Amino acid sequence: MPRNTRLPGHELRNEGAPFAWSSGRYVRQRETWTGKGLCSCGAVSDVLDSNNARKRWHRAHKDEMRQSGGDRG
Ligand SMILES: [Zn+2]
Repeated sequence: MPRNTRLPGHELRNEGAPFAWSSGRYVRQRETWTGKGLCSCGAVSDVLDSNNARKRWHRAHKDEMRQSGGDRG
């Protein structure tokens, strides 16, 4: 199993804080745990109800990027 280390270009914004689309951009939600996770590459998760769920999404996202991204990193 490869270790889950940081992948250049793929940072989970605000440690998995929830974001929602508003007025043409993603805005961090402060009154709910429900929202979308954002990756610095522009990827967006589904609406998830906890930071942990968004972290899980981001781990899977990075794994996908590693596998499809060739030999970077
Ligand atoms: Zn990404």
